[in-house]
Amino acid sequence: TAFSTLNLHSDLLSNLDSLGYEAMTPIQAQSLPLIIDGKDVIAQGKTGSGKTAAFGLGLLNNLNVKRFRVQTLVLCPTRELADQVAKEIRRLARAIHNIKVLTLCGGMPFGPQIGSLEHGAHIIVGTPGRIEEHIHKGFLRLDELNTLVLDEADRMLEMGFQDSLDAIIDVAPSDRQTLLFSATYPDQIASIAKRIMKNPVQVKV
Ligand code: AMP
Repeated sequence: TAFSTLNLHSDLLSNLDSLGYEAMTPIQAQSLPLIIDGKDVIAQGKTGSGKTAAFGLGLLNNLNVKRFRVQTLVLCPTRELADQVAKEIRRLARAIHNIKVLTLCGGMPFGPQIGSLEHGAHIIVGTPGRIEEHIHKGFLRLDELNTLVLDEADRMLEMGFQDSLDAIIDVAPSDRQTLLFSATYPDQIASIAKRIMKNPVQVKV
């Protein structure tokens, strides 16, 4: 299916053209219409499935770039994945001027991250431990968050990020869209989904 069948902003669509993205991958075809519609979605798909563009296009389509506040948070298990996700979101966002995507990962110096947060961002991509720390210390506020993405949720739990996830979700506005991507769907993920999502639609490819 072509991306043009979706209700996406025209600047996002024309950029997809220039990136050479023609047809949607299966995970995109199944999840994007729901995501654009504002639904909470649980999607099972691995790296390489095109999952980043699935949530990336959804969150970019929902974003108000004129409002320079953190509107989207993408949580990832590792710095490598966070960097990859941020890079793909920036590619998808090329046609949106003045959009700021910031990565906040553990293992990186704290100081520059505080400086970047003071400058502001629309989208934050990072690892749960460091993001929790920025929230706890008062450098990051989520009161205008409207989209929360858990990417590779199963790996985040395996890595022991459950407490950090809980702490972050605790301060996120309850009136938000939550998107959960996971390669596997163990009970632990089902129970998180039940706690933090609203009538989620489940998609499996
Ligand atoms: P991901 O599974 O998100 O890591 O994406 C895997 C790769 O597929 C990335 O390099 C994307 O740039 C690329 N990609 C994602 N969606 C599409 C698409 N619809 N058409 C062509 N390439 C895509």
